Amino acid sequence: MTANITVLAGDYIGPEIMAAGLKVLAAVSEDQNFDYELHEMPFGGAGIDQTGEPLPAETLKTAQQSDAVLLAAIGGPKWDGASKTPEQGLLAIRKALNLFANIRPTEISTAMQQYSPLKNTEPVDFVIVRELTSGIYFGTPRETTADYALDTMRYTNEEIERITRVAFDMAMKRRKHVTLVDKANVLDTSKLWRKIVAEIATDYPEVTYDTSYVDAASMKIIASPSQFDVILTENLFGDILSDEAAQTTGSLGTIPSMSRGVNGPSLYEPIHGSAPDIAGKGIADPISMIRSVAMMLTHSFNRDDMAKEISDAINQTVTAGVVTPDLGGHATTDEMTETIINYIKESR
Ligand code: ATP
Ligand code: MG
Repeated sequence: MTANITVLAGDYIGPEIMAAGLKVLAAVSEDQNFDYELHEMPFGGAGIDQTGEPLPAETLKTAQQSDAVLLAAIGGPKWDGASKTPEQGLLAIRKALNLFANIRPTEISTAMQQYSPLKNTEPVDFVIVRELTSGIYFGTPRETTADYALDTMRYTNEEIERITRVAFDMAMKRRKHVTLVDKANVLDTSKLWRKIVAEIATDYPEVTYDTSYVDAASMKIIASPSQFDVILTENLFGDILSDEAAQTTGSLGTIPSMSRGVNGPSLYEPIHGSAPDIAGKGIADPISMIRSVAMMLTHSFNRDDMAKEISDAINQTVTAGVVTPDLGGHATTDEMTETIINYIKESR
């Protein structure tokens, strides 16, 4: 079976880091019985420039028919104030693919520890599974009057159930530990989460399940992050906690993410933007994109073995000091990518 991968390189550093990600994918797939076909499509600002649309119909169709979507980064000053914006493309594709689960890893390996502001010396390796399409960002009614404003946090049983299954399935591929983060001492929605998650947890007897209030969890992410494996949480709490967690790694340019749909393809992308300030200089950190490729191999294609080779090679490269300026080094994107590829080849 051939894996069909839609490739959305996007804008500014997007194509630079995508090229790096695809080179690593090519190297790691060699002789691994992993056949794939890439479908490179215009999207974001590049979509507007080529077709007038940030999400051209052809691009969406290709994405929907593929097994996974790789996205680098979109947007930037070129399209500021335009009637159509790259960001509209991102919202449209998330909606069309029904991406209800956002998953962000926080990994501080021994090699990366020097960049972390945390004093913690144990390796950190957890993921935040955030509900992305409901909760207070979408709930109705919402209104603003002269005297008050109103937002509504609303969750249905079904919305909670499907994200919970994503978290427990993810835990089964990891250290089998799920922590539900909520505010069940105050919020009715959180009480419903507790009830439903506890029920679903019984379907996963191997998984250790516990809970934490969001205020306590935000402290633990700083004070004792090694205790976490999979953090499951609703939209607003996940938004805040995932940015907090990203900061603990010390480098935006290294963090990938995955967004899951219902039946269709998952989408993999760095958490950072298109970094217009460094575009064209050949110094963008490719790790976030390369790790997005690794996440895709694990979660869309069940090739954790290949993902691990990538991860090991990244750690060796960082340890050897072949890193881009965001990590304090002098390497270019290409030099760093080639070094990663060489470590992959060496390990075989
Ligand atoms: P967006 O609104 O799209 O998230 P942003 O304004 O938050 O974008 P980013 O594009 O994420 O900004 O960039 C923030 C800073 O981090 C910039 O200085 C940028 O150069 C830097 N940065 C982001 N990604 C990388 C990377 N892969 N390598 C090196 N530096 C990066
Ligand atoms: Mg930003």
